[in-house]
Amino acid sequence: MTHDAAELARLDRAHIIHPYLPGSATERVVMTEGSGCRLTDSEGRGYLDATGGLWLAQVGHGREDLADVAHEQMKKLEYFTSFWEFSNDRAIALAARLAGIAPDPLNHVYFTSGGSEGNEAAIKMARYYHHRRGDTDRTWILARSKAYHGIGYGGGSATGFPLYHEGFAPMMPHVSHLTPPWPYRSDLYGGEASTPEQVTDFLIRELEERIAEIGPDKIAAMIGEPIMGVGGMLVPPADYWPRVREVLDRHGILLIFDEVVTAYGRVGQWFAAQHFGVTPDIIVTAKGITSGYVPLGALLVADRVAEVLLRDHGFPMGYTYNGHPVATAVALANLDIIEKEGLLGRATSMGAFLHAELQAQLGDLPIVGEIRSVGMMLAVELVEDRETRVPLPLDPANMPHDVIRRETGVIVRDSAHSLVLSPPLIMTEAEAKEAASALRGVLERTAPTGEIRGA
Ligand code: PMP
Repeated sequence: MTHDAAELARLDRAHIIHPYLPGSATERVVMTEGSGCRLTDSEGRGYLDATGGLWLAQVGHGREDLADVAHEQMKKLEYFTSFWEFSNDRAIALAARLAGIAPDPLNHVYFTSGGSEGNEAAIKMARYYHHRRGDTDRTWILARSKAYHGIGYGGGSATGFPLYHEGFAPMMPHVSHLTPPWPYRSDLYGGEASTPEQVTDFLIRELEERIAEIGPDKIAAMIGEPIMGVGGMLVPPADYWPRVREVLDRHGILLIFDEVVTAYGRVGQWFAAQHFGVTPDIIVTAKGITSGYVPLGALLVADRVAEVLLRDHGFPMGYTYNGHPVATAVALANLDIIEKEGLLGRATSMGAFLHAELQAQLGDLPIVGEIRSVGMMLAVELVEDRETRVPLPLDPANMPHDVIRRETGVIVRDSAHSLVLSPPLIMTEAEAKEAASALRGVLERTAPTGEIRGA
């Protein structure tokens, strides 16, 4: 034990406002060390990190080489601004590297410190792009229910969960939410869609109708996660994004991909855009760009958009930490590791292995409705009944993911009635088996009422 665990927990309760944790909650898990996929808390207890922190620890915890890069860069130049004509060599090297791995014509980079900042920037860029071209009515943003785009007022408004809006109103006007692509829940499509193609047909029809209602020349952009993460790892039909892109193009509406979760190897490619074969106008990234070692985000912007933003006095918004030298240095080293260790391919192969393991261990359980995955993004959707697909009732005091962590030390996440896994891409087969059997141990004791025997 490296710290007095009880004292740490007491100070935490006294002083830290945690997101999504009621003040009445007494339990604290105070992490003190990490290595690979493993974490240790202040009581010396070990954990298997099957969520990669918050979906981002691509290269795993405790990499000394990344710590060394940060240390060296801090000694050389810890910070200077990227406003106006100022720049730094690490930010330049990273921007050129990102332009190299991103699909053409995404050759321009705008740095942020995280995903929420990134989505604010993307939404403002989309409006500003049209404004500068004289299309000043194009202010509307299309988004989807169940989307998560961070907590700013722009991205937060595009986020499609009432929880994130309630009590924060008024949200940003001129945002319209469409139905999400979730083939498992065909009831969302009026019961009329039984194949993935029919789901897409429904959604494209809805998109066309919504554009007609709002007015095609009033819409700036559509924003979407290529695979919806927080919404429950919702994988769209293969033809969804190409067909959405075709409709948007026809109406001069920009496409923004929020790849805060899906970029940098998570789905087996640098970007999910490559997985779906669709190139948006802006890709928002963060998280995996540094595997979480330091905060950083980056927007990849298409040539035709950048050309307009850079006219006259340039794009009039900046963050103090745009292109932070230490963050960009660490990001470069992180991308090097992903490349040298072949983690894109590994995400595909280990993702398939973990999927097969989950299928083998959980596939026979009546409360497991569907197991789905792309690369190292996986979800196990829980239902009361496989036939009706009614979601499993959940008891906030005894959620399956909490019981799994308390009993086995395996950390998975709950997302809209699904258990979601997004482990470091370096996960081993033994760790994948351990994660799957931890889920089995709890889910086989979970009744269709949501009650967990012996928990
Ligand atoms: N977009 C998506 C798709 C996300 O999943 C997240 C974070 N989970 C964000 C944006 C917000 O990123 P951040 O928390 O870094 O602000």
